[in-house]
Amino acid sequence: KDYNSAALIVGITGIVGSSLAEMLLLPDTPGGPWKVYGVARRPRPTWLSDRRLNYIQCDISNSKETISKLSPLTDITHIFYVCWVGSEDCDLNGSMFRNVLRVVIPIAPNLQHVCLQTGIKYYLGVFDERYKQEPHDSPFTEDLPRLPIPNFYYDLEDILAEETKAKLGLTWSAHRPALVFGFSPCSMMNMVSTISVYATICKHENKPLVYPGSDFSWDCYYDVVDADLLAEQQIWASMEPKAKNQAFNCSNGDVFRWKHMWKILAEQFGLEMVGYRKGQKETSMAELMKGKEPVWDEIVKKHNLVPTKLNDIAAFWLADVVFYSDNRVSCMNKSKELGFLRFKDSTKSFLDSIEKMRAYRFIP
Ligand code: NDP
Repeated sequence: KDYNSAALIVGITGIVGSSLAEMLLLPDTPGGPWKVYGVARRPRPTWLSDRRLNYIQCDISNSKETISKLSPLTDITHIFYVCWVGSEDCDLNGSMFRNVLRVVIPIAPNLQHVCLQTGIKYYLGVFDERYKQEPHDSPFTEDLPRLPIPNFYYDLEDILAEETKAKLGLTWSAHRPALVFGFSPCSMMNMVSTISVYATICKHENKPLVYPGSDFSWDCYYDVVDADLLAEQQIWASMEPKAKNQAFNCSNGDVFRWKHMWKILAEQFGLEMVGYRKGQKETSMAELMKGKEPVWDEIVKKHNLVPTKLNDIAAFWLADVVFYSDNRVSCMNKSKELGFLRFKDSTKSFLDSIEKMRAYRFIP
């Protein structure tokens, strides 16, 4: 046996799953050396080619398939659940998580910890129910009560506490990140790839980079979290005795304004910038980008990029949510007080994500 810990990352192709795999495979990661299993439905993408990653193609919404694919993995010591179905359906998201826990907990005698990723919608309310309930005031702290509306994050956190009770000594942590900055082209919510693709299309069409959002989102303080930093917090919580059986916010530890980030985006893609203009009519990026699939196909071909479909690499609806949002800053004191002191400069996080997507040839 040449490893100390064995991780099961559920959602390996996603924005945080891919960062977790990279972090866990580094030689000096706490708990290491790590053996890493990664689960997703699609065939292994070429960009996830590290030979040390044991890729398992499995649809965890199918309980029979989950049993057959995961029950041989008796050496798992840690589960990192960074997965959702792409809709806020409580039953479906809940049954997927339960399927995994109900297979792995009984078969893995050395299982020690389960990390679950939810998010700040814990405090804001889910997209579907947004206008039915006032969100909490920001900054958000982990002890805020739940909002009285259905939210799959509440179901997942309940399932986590309930199912882990089945095994003596098995611990858990729930992670509630801000918007994530990362590089995966297979994520259902990657803000950096979304606005980079928007910028690339503007460039291709010789148009300026127009900010389509509200005056408030243009000017307010915003926080995000780097996918690598979030992965580090999850690894920290799975190793740190004081961090057990509780929830943690996760952000980079600084704030920025979209009006500054938009300027950086324009510079990165060599574009003229058009920021928020007083009295500007509301526009939706999703509307602006409607029907641009063939344009993206053309760009992919022209620049010899890794083939992606526009609706996989970009989630324009997410940009609309972000650019019409208001105060939503998370408080990081709780995990700091327990010893997680890492941070990341959000501008660097933005630039690093763009650079990595370029290096992988996802964007020109
Ligand atoms: P992504 O959308 O980036 O990735 C989801 C992963 O789950 C992919 O690897 C996907 O792979 C896999 N997956 C989806 N359905 C199945 C299935 N049935 N069986 C097996 N694998 C599956 O996830 P995120 O990291 O963005 O999201 C995880 C959680 O974090 C969610 O609850 C989300 O709301 C929350 N969050 C995300 C933020 C963000 O900015 N991205 C911000 C704050 C919270 P494949 O498609 O190949 O199956």
